[in-house]
Amino acid sequence: MEGLETLKKWIDESDNIVFFGGAGVSTESGIPDFRSVDGLYHQKYDYPPETILSHTFFMRNTPEFYKFYSDKMLVEGAKPNAAHLKLAEWEKQGKLKAVITQNIDGLHQMAGSKEVLELHGSVQRNYCMKCREFFDFAAIKERMNEAEDLVPKCPKCGGIIKPDVVLYEEGLDDDVMMKSIRYIANADVLIIGGTSLVVYPAAGLVDYYRGKKLVLVNLSATSRDSRADLVLHGKIGEVFSQL
Ligand code: NAD
Repeated sequence: MEGLETLKKWIDESDNIVFFGGAGVSTESGIPDFRSVDGLYHQKYDYPPETILSHTFFMRNTPEFYKFYSDKMLVEGAKPNAAHLKLAEWEKQGKLKAVITQNIDGLHQMAGSKEVLELHGSVQRNYCMKCREFFDFAAIKERMNEAEDLVPKCPKCGGIIKPDVVLYEEGLDDDVMMKSIRYIANADVLIIGGTSLVVYPAAGLVDYYRGKKLVLVNLSATSRDSRADLVLHGKIGEVFSQL
């Protein structure tokens, strides 16, 4: 594949790689993204995913939110793929500083990555909206299965449990944003992978990069292709397994 040798060289020579990724990083683990042909935007729902995954929708149509969420966002048994594993390996070797992800699936941590900045939260964390008690993935699943309408309720106070994910209309965590900006601004190599770069403010973070080794690994073209120093169009798991 064209560009692979250059990418290999840049990675070999660097001890300050930062990765910025999105849903495309997890499609090879069986979790659908939003914008690919078999992504969630091309499946039939009464509302588009952006509507269902909004704060207003969650508050007004909680059972319908949870139906979509459990069908499409909680993919049971998903395992890290070659891309997640390679990133964890680079961090262990002292080459990679951080993984900044728009994903909420927790697969980077499952692969062994330590410094993971989750811009949009995680399905692994959930909390009661009334008493603030925290629940992990297994606990919320159990509560959903017990409920007739799939809406998980707090066993202590009966409040509705909400996933700790950033829904549309909700703000991103300031600390996570600031830390991400710092990593990107100071990075030697910035690899952007598996993201359409259309969801803001997350996508805007890549503009803080000041180096000369901006790499894009994505299946389809993005608006940033022309500004990248290296573009590899392909499946990220397949590309990373060759590095
Ligand atoms: P997106 O669906 O908008 O874009 C995904 C991009 O990845 C597309 O450009 C596609 O061509 C590319 N892609 C798909 N499979 C790929 C592969 N194997 N290798 C390389 N590229 C591949 O996703 P986005 O930019 O992350 O934005 C969508 C939002 O939805 C994010 O905010 C994210 O939080 C959320 N989301 C998360 C998950 C998850 O946690 N796994 C899944 C779906 C959506």
